[in-house]
Amino acid sequence: MAFVKKPKLIDFKSSPPHLQFNDFVLTGYRPVSTFQGCVHSLFYLHNEFGNIYTHAIPFLCFLVLLPLNIPWWQAGAGWICVLHYLACLSPTVGSVLYHLFMNHEGGELIYDTLLSLDMFGVCLVNTLGALPIVHITLLCYPDARRAAQLAYISLSLYGVYSAVTARSNVRRLQSFIWQAAFRLFLYFLRLYGPGTGSPASMHFYAVMDSLAALGGLVNVARMPERLSPGSFDYWLNSHQIMHMLVALSIVYLHWGMMEDLVWLDTFQCPPE
Ligand SMILES: [Zn+2]
Repeated sequence: MAFVKKPKLIDFKSSPPHLQFNDFVLTGYRPVSTFQGCVHSLFYLHNEFGNIYTHAIPFLCFLVLLPLNIPWWQAGAGWICVLHYLACLSPTVGSVLYHLFMNHEGGELIYDTLLSLDMFGVCLVNTLGALPIVHITLLCYPDARRAAQLAYISLSLYGVYSAVTARSNVRRLQSFIWQAAFRLFLYFLRLYGPGTGSPASMHFYAVMDSLAALGGLVNVARMPERLSPGSFDYWLNSHQIMHMLVALSIVYLHWGMMEDLVWLDTFQCPPE
C-alpha cells in the first residue's frame, strides 16, 4: 500500500460549520477528506482519534470476548442471548463510523446521516439491552410482561425519533430519559414489588445506568475542556470521557444479564 502523508490539521474556525460543535476544542481538526482520507486518519493523531479508538477497541473486545461468556445453549434463553449480544455491539459500531467519517467530503448530509446512525446505535442498546430485563422482571406475569414490553418498545420508538431529530446535545440526552425512567421502575419492582430476577444483578444494573447518565451529563457539560479551552483537544475531553463511561456501562449491562441468566436457568414461577 502506498504511504499516504498525514494532511495538515486545521483549527476550529477553519473547519466546516457542521463540524464546529465544540468551541472548547480549538485545534487538531482533520480537513474535509475522501473516503480513503477518512480511513487513513486511523493512523495519525487528530482530535477525533481518541473518540474513534475509545469505541473501536471496546467494539473489538466485545465482538470477540462476549460470545465466549454468553450461555447460547441455555434452554429458552436463546433469544435473550442474541438480543443482548447485538445490544452490546450496537452503540460502538455507529459511533466509530460517525467519528471516522464525519469530515467526509459529502458534507453536512453525510454528517447528519452518520450522526443519526450513532444515535440509532445508542437507541438500540437502550432497547435490545432492556427487553430481556423487562422479560425477567415480569417473568411470572405474562400479561403484564407483554404490556410492559410493548410500552418499552413504544418509548424506544419515541426515543429514536427524538434522538435523530434533536438539534443539540441536551435534547439528545433528553431523548433517553423515558426509557431510563422505565428501567428505574423495573428496578423498583424487583426491590420492593413482585418483580423477579437475580438479586446480584441489581448492583450491576444500578452501576450501568449511573455510568451512562454520568457520561451523558459530562458530554453536555463539556467538562473538562470548558475550564481550559484548547488543553483537551486530543485527549481526555468530555466526549472521550463519555465514550469510556458508555463502554464501561455496557460491561456492567453484560455482567448484570449474565447473573440474570444464571438465575433464570433454575427459577420456577410458583403455581397459580
Ligand atoms: Zn461519540
